[in-house]
Parts: sequence; C-alpha cells; structure tokens
Amino acid sequence: MKQVEKRDYLAKGMAFNDLVRIAVVDLTDAVDVMQQHHGSLPTASAAIGRLMVAAAVMTDIIKDEQRLTLTVKGGGKLGAIHAQADAYGNVRAYADHMHIDFPLTEKGKLAVGEAVGSSGTLSVEFDYNLDSPYSGTVELVSGEIAEDIAYYFAASQQIPTVFAAGVLIGEADRVYAAGGYLIQLMPGAGEDIIDKIEKRMQEVLPMTELLRQGRTPEEIMEYLLGDEGLRILDEKKEYRFFCNCSREALRAALLSLSPEDLGELVPDEETEICCSYCSTCYVFSRSEIMDLHQ
Ligand code: ZN
Repeated sequence: MKQVEKRDYLAKGMAFNDLVRIAVVDLTDAVDVMQQHHGSLPTASAAIGRLMVAAAVMTDIIKDEQRLTLTVKGGGKLGAIHAQADAYGNVRAYADHMHIDFPLTEKGKLAVGEAVGSSGTLSVEFDYNLDSPYSGTVELVSGEIAEDIAYYFAASQQIPTVFAAGVLIGEADRVYAAGGYLIQLMPGAGEDIIDKIEKRMQEVLPMTELLRQGRTPEEIMEYLLGDEGLRILDEKKEYRFFCNCSREALRAALLSLSPEDLGELVPDEETEICCSYCSTCYVFSRSEIMDLHQ
C-alpha cells in the first residue's frame, strides 16, 4: 500500500516565557486511512486513533532512523493495541480485535476505557537502531489512553504533562476528526503555571470539536495558550498513515520459519498472509513457500 496525505501535521510552540512547551497535531486523515485499511469498528478506531495521536506527538522528539512503538495491553476485549511512528512522520497501528462492536456508555460516548481495559500496561519503546533500545513501561490508569500517556510522562520521565487526544467517528464508521495536544512543563516552571494550565484545561472545548470547527494546529495552540505569551515555532511536521510492508518482506519473514512450521502453515494450494499493521494481504502459492527452503 502507498498512501500519501497532505493535511495532517504537527505544530509546536512555547508559552509562559518558554517555561512550557506545546505540540498540537491534526491526524484526521491518517486515522481515517487506518480505519479504511482495517475496517475497524468505532470503539476500536477511537482507541487505536488515540494511540496514533500519542505516537505522533511523541515522535516529535526523535530523529533520523529512529522509531517509536507504543503498546497498550489493558486486558479488555480489544486485546493489545500497537502504534508505531517514525521520524519521517509515518504512522501505522492496529489492535488485536478491531471488529468487536461495543455498546456506548450511559453518556452516549464510545466506551474506549472498557474496550481497552484498565488492568495492564503501556509500554513505550524508542528504537535507536542500536543494540539496546530504550523502553519504559507503566501501569495503566484508566485505559482511556490520554490519561495513561500523561501518567507515563509524570511517572517515568518526571515531566508534568497534559495530554489530550480525541477521535470523532461519523457515518459509515469513517473518522471525521482525530488529533491531540501535549503540554509539558520545562524545568523551572512553578506551581502558579501548573495552576493556570489546569484551570484552562477545565474550560476548553474537546479536541475533536476544535478540529470540526476547521481550526488548524496553530489556531488550536492560540486557542489553548494564546493569552500566555505563546510563541509558535517555525517547525511543522507532516504525518501520514504508511506501512512499509511488502510481499518481499513477508516472504523474508517466512524464510525464518523452519520447514516443519512452513508445512503446517500451508495446507492449501494458496495461502494468504496478512500484515497486522495495515491488513494488506499477500497470496503465496504452496510451491512458492515450499521452495523457500530448497
Ligand atoms: Zn502492512
């Protein structure tokens, strides 16, 4: 699959005399393309989309050949959720069970926390293409994803963080809006700043509503912290849903299996092997697979 989108991007800024940094991302197209690839149902799309937003915002700090993988294992019916993003703005994601329909909550919202589950872990793995990738794992707080990401930064990185992520599902299960923002205190930021940000967070509109109003990431930054000495940085980063799988790559993965495993895998004349990250399927003939080991 090749998918090039142009609308999604992340914008960055500083506020409160550079004691606070903020990043806002619109990921609507990428999450919609994800939904189209997987045919995921709304609650799954919302959970996966929120994790994609987290991965996008967190890759803001990685460079070059690095890659970030977020994995949420909450014990809920969705199974594990995986989101990966690289320094070039490519994002891909899936959940183990994306085609389960969940009833809405009493308030009429998607029951993301329940579908994800809240007894488990969030793990964050930065792959620096070195022998020892950095990874950190924290217990889940709620399974709602956004809170869990904020908790990761507070507990694992000791950085006070506000993280918001929202996904709005529309007709035919399509994604109408997806995005989020990260606000972090820099060393030296005092309690007064924390209080101001917390107060502001209680009065702001949900992220999906801001996006539905047609606001850009810069305009959302203005809306959130415009009164607090906001300085928008001249650094934009584009994002897209992209999976680098290929027939050749899956064939190479098959090569690593033993002849016995291959034999069990291929009882039929033709076998379809699908990529988890984008649901693209590749057909291999029996003889082609058996030839791998000759
Ligand atoms: Zn793929």
